[in-house]
Amino acid sequence: MEQLVLRARAAFQTGRSRPLSFRLQQLRALQRMVQECQKEILGALAQDLHKSEFNAFSQEVVSILGELDHVLEKLPEWVAPEPAKKNLLTMMDEAYVHSEPLGVILIIGAWNYPFVLNIQPLIGAIAAGNAVIVKPSELSEKTATLLAKILPQYLDKELYQVINGGVKETTELLKQRFDHILYTGSTGVGKIVMEAAAKHLTPVTLELGGKSPCYIDKDCNLDIACRRVTWGKYMNCGQICIAPDYILCEPSLQSQIVERIKETVREFYGEEIKKSPDYERIINLHHFKRVTSLLEGQKIAFGGETDEATRYIAPTVLTDVNPNSKVMQEEIFGPVLPIVPVKNADEAIQFINQREKPLALYVFSNNNKEKKVLLMPFVFISELFPAPKMNCSLLPKKSY
Ligand code: NAD
Repeated sequence: MEQLVLRARAAFQTGRSRPLSFRLQQLRALQRMVQECQKEILGALAQDLHKSEFNAFSQEVVSILGELDHVLEKLPEWVAPEPAKKNLLTMMDEAYVHSEPLGVILIIGAWNYPFVLNIQPLIGAIAAGNAVIVKPSELSEKTATLLAKILPQYLDKELYQVINGGVKETTELLKQRFDHILYTGSTGVGKIVMEAAAKHLTPVTLELGGKSPCYIDKDCNLDIACRRVTWGKYMNCGQICIAPDYILCEPSLQSQIVERIKETVREFYGEEIKKSPDYERIINLHHFKRVTSLLEGQKIAFGGETDEATRYIAPTVLTDVNPNSKVMQEEIFGPVLPIVPVKNADEAIQFINQREKPLALYVFSNNNKEKKVLLMPFVFISELFPAPKMNCSLLPKKSY
């Protein structure tokens, strides 16, 4: 492990990752890789998560090609020195801000979007002139293996390396000194990563999870609200960091919401959801057991069918959920949607503020005054959790 990181550092120290022309050339090579290996990428995503071609293409490939187009277009502007205002101390100088690459970057990816979550931060790190070690999640094994095979076929082999492995290998990797760590995954492992980084005073960017609430007001278009919640909750079998985790609404709305979500699920996935090419599976047995255990003792309004052999869990809605139950204590990260009745928007705000800060908040209301009231206490959320842009911290300041 140490040798691999030293090899990346030695390559960085040659200075070849710095020139704009080299960065653009590597990014174009990455673009070719995504285009030429598209079939293999979609195949690996299908094997890891049962992602259909359309879902895998639209969620993992299109976004990467879009990001590459954007960076290729903007990079010349981003790397140019930025004029700096002079003051008394610098009045005799030529003053400008020059952005420097940081050095060797470690990317630790998660399994739920195993292509995007490794390649998107890689684009930023290459664009900013760094060397990179990519450590994909071992849980999305096929995509991890594919990345280790194809990245060296297109990119500089010394500067950009893929290291595969699980907890043991990642623990070993984290003992090495990096100049920045980009981690995507759970809060628990985020703490381990930050602790290891602190030993070297390495800055970290942690893309973590959380329980993102959804408040549905009685004054809203319920059809639209339920359609959107269904789309966001059951896509990728609920394994999305900003999926609506639970619904807060007045008790009288519960049954109407259940009926509409049920109808929309039928429309999206058909009568036999198990046979739908658009419905994914839980990543592994451990997570299957974790999610199914959240159903214990709950009132299942619809769904609830499971199949351990194929790691299938049907789109499920739970009603009258007790806020103290297990399903409300941890991020669900699966196709289970609890509804917790609250009296009104004020109680919803109180409920959310009493818990850990979520990644996202979804409010469905026609009442502008109420929307403002709901958003006010959450202003701090958008400050603490800007829209996920994993490459931001590695790009020149003026670009974001
Ligand atoms: P995971 O189990 O794949 O872990 C993530 C990475 O950490 C993997 O590369 C893994 O090898 C490594 N890892 C696991 N245990 C480790 C340990 N003990 N020591 C060192 N490294 C270790 O993925 P996960 O944590 O189950 O991912 C799901 C979480 O990620 C959810 O909470 C989700 O919300 C979050 N997520 C966040 C974003 C975002 O952009 N904010 C995006 C996707 C996922």
